[in-house]
Amino acid sequence: MKLILANPRGFCAGVYMAIDVVDQLLDILDDEPIYVYHDIVHNLHVVNRFKERGVTFVEDVEDVPHNSIIVFSAHGVSPAVRTAAAKRKLDMIDATCPLVTKVHAEAIRYARRGWQILLVGHHDHQEIIGTRGEAPDSIQVVDSVESIKTLQIDDPTKLIYLTQTTLSMDDASTIINALKVAFPEINSPPSEDICYATTNRQHAVRVLAPQCDVVLVVGSRNSSNSLRLTEIAEAAGTRAHLIDDVDELSEEMLSGSTSVLVTAGASAPEDLVQSLILKLIQDHGGEIEQHDIFHESVEFGLPGTLKKFMRTRDIDPEGRRITMDDMASTNRFLDQHGIPYNVVDLTVSAAD
Ligand code: SF4
Repeated sequence: MKLILANPRGFCAGVYMAIDVVDQLLDILDDEPIYVYHDIVHNLHVVNRFKERGVTFVEDVEDVPHNSIIVFSAHGVSPAVRTAAAKRKLDMIDATCPLVTKVHAEAIRYARRGWQILLVGHHDHQEIIGTRGEAPDSIQVVDSVESIKTLQIDDPTKLIYLTQTTLSMDDASTIINALKVAFPEINSPPSEDICYATTNRQHAVRVLAPQCDVVLVVGSRNSSNSLRLTEIAEAAGTRAHLIDDVDELSEEMLSGSTSVLVTAGASAPEDLVQSLILKLIQDHGGEIEQHDIFHESVEFGLPGTLKKFMRTRDIDPEGRRITMDDMASTNRFLDQHGIPYNVVDLTVSAAD
């Protein structure tokens, strides 16, 4: 069997930072409870591993005892959540991805100017709930071309669209093109809202999926960007399966396949990919090729709220990093297990 590993895959800078926030708190706090509002990132294993270490996840700030520590997840929260947390005198540590915060800032800026904002994304996704909460009277969510006809527009010259960071670029283009037909004067966001990690992972699948019989995406079902990767593979004509881990792999998924593409959503830890590779090679033998499509170098430092919190505990936040998860660890893993691999450099440019 030929096994192709897509690079980039797995953790993005925002997920790496958000997980590191919780790791840092576990490291510096002895017995104080840590609460996280919503899943820190949308991955079952990440959340369960933190639960095993004593972290409590809540969907309602009212479930957090007064004066406790609360972490806001990578997806961001609405101002209403911050207000509720302040009322309970919670110590708020914000692990929102800076690229989500950027979309919040755009929403606030245009709402203040009196513009209407069409937010392209999934109604029930935590990121959309948070962004919409910044200006609920000015924002309408657009989740399909069909929903455009239900929009209430006051002045089509004061209209802008923004998007969720983890949309399929193809789906987003379809909706945005329909918005431009319906409202020719609509404005585009000042810079692209779909983030670099989403774009790069999707592009890698779009390029590599046609070379394979099946695509395995490691990720959880509530992970928007992981779901989009399976859809993109299928749109490229290759069957695809989203699996949380190697235990969900079945022989039916691989039936008739001689070439498999393995990738992972932005919230899926690389050790889950490694277990899957090992199982595939042990059961089917064959060769591994790592196909590099983009080199990424984006990194986010610890959030300001965490640094401030650390200083209140006499801890110097500079240079601290606990979470380690990178694709290079897979090369070490393959070397340790004596599994040969080739690297195929298909990079067209370094993409941030
Ligand atoms: S997928 Fe993009 S927006 Fe979401 S956490 Fe990662 S870098 Fe940030």
